[in-house]
Amino acid sequence: MGDREDRKARNEAVFRTLNERIRAVVDELSLAGIVDEREVSEYLCECAAADCLERIMLTPAEYELARATPIRFVIAPGHVAVEVERVVHETDRFMIVEKHPGERQIAAATDPRREQPGE
Ligand SMILES: [Zn+2]
Repeated sequence: MGDREDRKARNEAVFRTLNERIRAVVDELSLAGIVDEREVSEYLCECAAADCLERIMLTPAEYELARATPIRFVIAPGHVAVEVERVVHETDRFMIVEKHPGERQIAAATDPRREQPGE
């Protein structure tokens, strides 16, 4: 894997971590009865482009679909980087992509839902 691909994978991991925080906030708001679990909330595109700040609207269930495995990321339609990932789910609001085998190690190692050694 080249440096460029490596940087892309890490970039996606940063946005995934931010989205996990958004998801946690949505969870708290819904527990407090402030938002409805079926409503969409604003998440960040997890694509490989370093300068992408695109927002995507997802329900908690749609977001969870992306988090089902550590090698999946949720992105804005058309933001797929075919050299590192393939599309596994597509709607008019978002796409879910899955990393190619060579990229999976970083994706899995940076998964915020995985217990990090030493933390
Ligand atoms: Zn993007």
